[in-house]
Amino acid sequence: MSEFLLSTSDLTEADRARTRALLDRLRSVPALADRYAGVEAIDTLDDLAKAPVMLKDDLQVALAHLRPRAEQGTTWVFQSGGSTGSPQVGYAPTGLYMDEVHAHWKALTADDVFVNGWSAGKMWGAHFLANSYADHAGCVAMNLGAMAKDEYDPWLEFFRTRKVTAFGGTPSVLRLVFGHAREAGVKLPDLRSVLWLGEGWDPQLGEDLAAVAVNARRWGMFGSTETWVVATNTPDCAADTWHPLPSQLVCVGEDEMLDFTTLNPRGLNPILRYRTGDAGRIVTCTCGDRALQVLGRRDGLIKYRGHLVNVADLVRDVGTIPGVARAQLVVTGNDLLEVLVLPAGEAGGRLAADVREHIVGSAFGPSIVFQRNPHALEVRVVDALIGNDRTGKIPDLVTRHDG
Ligand SMILES: [Zn+2]
Repeated sequence: MSEFLLSTSDLTEADRARTRALLDRLRSVPALADRYAGVEAIDTLDDLAKAPVMLKDDLQVALAHLRPRAEQGTTWVFQSGGSTGSPQVGYAPTGLYMDEVHAHWKALTADDVFVNGWSAGKMWGAHFLANSYADHAGCVAMNLGAMAKDEYDPWLEFFRTRKVTAFGGTPSVLRLVFGHAREAGVKLPDLRSVLWLGEGWDPQLGEDLAAVAVNARRWGMFGSTETWVVATNTPDCAADTWHPLPSQLVCVGEDEMLDFTTLNPRGLNPILRYRTGDAGRIVTCTCGDRALQVLGRRDGLIKYRGHLVNVADLVRDVGTIPGVARAQLVVTGNDLLEVLVLPAGEAGGRLAADVREHIVGSAFGPSIVFQRNPHALEVRVVDALIGNDRTGKIPDLVTRHDG
């Protein structure tokens, strides 16, 4: 049986108006009409349990047809992932629904001096989402974005002298910043809140923070560019455990796969039982409330510095470059993405550079990460890819923890 996590015991009248409207919108998409033809109405959680789930591609088909518009202000389009060839997108009105997040989650107060360390550009949403949240908090805020390695020291000194109290970013980026600060002996005694979004928490980051900023506590947001923020947690919660916002309906399937329904009537993306690829279960949080424990991804996507990378797509894409027989991705503990390339025949001297240029020079996909952090990508031409000793299979992705 599917299990639901909702702040009310069943769908309210307002929720039913929303689920009916979502169903109508999805039925109006010619490519999806058949799938929803058998669903008469969604008035209860039992009805919802019988409704079909949507996958990423289904939502992209729906959005391409519906082209949603906000009732007021600007309709923003953000990139949620995809391959080097085509981005997947999500829509949101100005404000990115952060009014509801702020009403239920007080990671920043008016007294805070907040540094926004999420990278901006190429339609990535987290930077703008954090700014919308800061607007509600009414704090002092600074837009930093991504830093290159040689910029850490001067910026850390700036944060110290400006008495920065809050810092936000993707855990893998935060780890680079605070790992560097720890090595350099920097202390940030004024820092009390670390906001994070985009990846799971990294315990190593907790250790670095304890050394650098003894008063800092973590405050997490969980979601995706399609659903926007689904849930939050506080320093009192386990890092993998989340409390959904009232307008977000979470369903845990029998196979532990999660799907989400956005009950917010202003929601532009038609999120009705939308599967993000995350697995999870409903638990009692360490803070005492019922909550969602997220168990990680099960869909062939990896989060690399907060950006979703489709492993199979990237491996296939690199395989189309002339001179490449097969490629393999290696993710290491030191936050490096390695692309191993097996050459077709004799490897030309430029093969590694060609592959690198193809990935970094792409308009879409993870190129933004590497344009800003060229050292985060390493392309190596090898005689053999890494195989599984037992089965002899060569996986698309190898994860190494020795870094
Ligand atoms: Zn909790």
